[in-house]
Amino acid sequence: MANYIDLANLIFPNITQTIDDLEKRYPKRNLPEGAMVTRFAPSPTGFLHTGSLFTSLVSARYAKQSGGVFYIRLEDTDTKREIAGSGESLIEQLAVFDVIPDEGYISDTKEIGNYGPYKQSQRAEIYNTVIKHLITIGRAYPCFCSAEELAELRAIQEANKEIPGYYGKYAKYRDLPVDEAINRINNGDPYIIRFKSMGDHNNKVSFHDEIKGDLELTQNDQDIVILKSDGLPTYHFAHLVDDHFMRTTHITRGEEWLSSLPIHLELFDTMGFERPKYAHLPVIMKVENGNRRKLSKRKDEEAAVSYFLEEGYPKYGFIEYLLTIANSNYEAWRNDNLDKDFYEFKLQFDKMSLDGALFDIAKVANISKERMAYKKACCLAKEVKEWAKTYNKEFYEKIISNEDLFISILNIEREKEKPRKDYAKYSDIYPIISFFYDDIYNNIDKTNLEWNSNINKADIKAVLNDYLETMNLSLNEEEWFNSIKELAVRHGFADNIKLWKKDKEAYKGHVGDVSEFLRLCLAGRKNSPNLYCVLQILGEDKSKSRIKETLSNI
Ligand code: GLU
Repeated sequence: MANYIDLANLIFPNITQTIDDLEKRYPKRNLPEGAMVTRFAPSPTGFLHTGSLFTSLVSARYAKQSGGVFYIRLEDTDTKREIAGSGESLIEQLAVFDVIPDEGYISDTKEIGNYGPYKQSQRAEIYNTVIKHLITIGRAYPCFCSAEELAELRAIQEANKEIPGYYGKYAKYRDLPVDEAINRINNGDPYIIRFKSMGDHNNKVSFHDEIKGDLELTQNDQDIVILKSDGLPTYHFAHLVDDHFMRTTHITRGEEWLSSLPIHLELFDTMGFERPKYAHLPVIMKVENGNRRKLSKRKDEEAAVSYFLEEGYPKYGFIEYLLTIANSNYEAWRNDNLDKDFYEFKLQFDKMSLDGALFDIAKVANISKERMAYKKACCLAKEVKEWAKTYNKEFYEKIISNEDLFISILNIEREKEKPRKDYAKYSDIYPIISFFYDDIYNNIDKTNLEWNSNINKADIKAVLNDYLETMNLSLNEEEWFNSIKELAVRHGFADNIKLWKKDKEAYKGHVGDVSEFLRLCLAGRKNSPNLYCVLQILGEDKSKSRIKETLSNI
């Protein structure tokens, strides 16, 4: 009579190493007390989800702030969903947001660290060693169930209103005699490997989550698949093996995994591996028609981190936003510590939100606006240039054609106590400032400007002609504004809006209208950055020629 060892040897004839060998090869890490080992474990399925960036940022911060290790493991066992090259692009996008692993998968040809390989597809020998051990102790077995048999099973469970799945009396191959299993394998029958659960869904398993606290969950009783027919492990099993042998201390992952936690606990307990600590992080949600739902890859552009990169949200704005969803006390800390680097804030598990965090793009924009406004023009110019190089070639060409000009433009109403807060993202900038560049200005249709229809064209012309004669750009801003008021008054306009409002009949308009004429001439539209600064940057000659060109089209 054959035994479990024979079965294990038949299935894995080439596996000679033992669990002990693995324990020695991947020893406990020598880290100071309290240092956390965390990881981010993306699947290379094409794009970095905003929720994943959140998870990875939080995981990386916990490792950093505790003097531990943050590593990346590529979970590439779902070959059907894998998109070639997307592992590397994930790493690149994470790096933009300062999520840089100390260890792990770096690219398809590079990894760092002693606990690898960090790509699951290269870890077959390690998984097989653990499975071989489980078969040997009678806690894993080959299952020969066909798709039809599984469907039949499901139909019976549905008819009987029983819990679906492969467990207990429904686990057809669980107690197949070893001899029969060996015969079927020798016969070439296809099979997968299942874990043999000893759990009971009438019982509970107690567990402490770092975020959610003490929980009582229903025990697992499913004989889950651990090795698929393609020879690759399932998520549950790889989680056991990888997080144990990579010596992860804290599993920081999305709360969608909480429901399968009983499986994981049973796997750890069966192997006699110390359970890692778990912190199930809130999932990022969105409100739609009054209902909460997960940010969806298909429906929401903001579900992909690439959206924020393309739009040019500054990384510091986006990271800070994510910190506000990570810890409820972040904003208060920020207000008290405006001069500090946001990484000085210490994340705490007990300040994490307990259920899905709501994604609020307006808040991302507000934080970004706030932070961008206090950047020095030259620093911001560098960031924008870097962004434009990839995402807006036309803008990039303009920037590099005259970097000093670009810095002066960005410097409008900046580097002062109350700077203007008009940019939430880099892509907001070009549409507002493109008129400074002659080729863009020249393309504006001057015959079709939005002149105030309440004001006579002849009066507009008179004002502009006068300004051509009297323009003086050596005045300071206050003096200059007085000169514009005088110009207004000379042509029958009120020098302030209140006055005009009191008696509209007495005036042709007010000083604001006069500024608007100038804006239309210089920028081709009613709104522009601070007019005094625009004139200063364009200079007298260009300002005059733009006014003349506009005049000839009125
Ligand atoms: N590959 C899994 C995912 O992308 C990882 C989950 C985990 O962090 O354990 O969802």
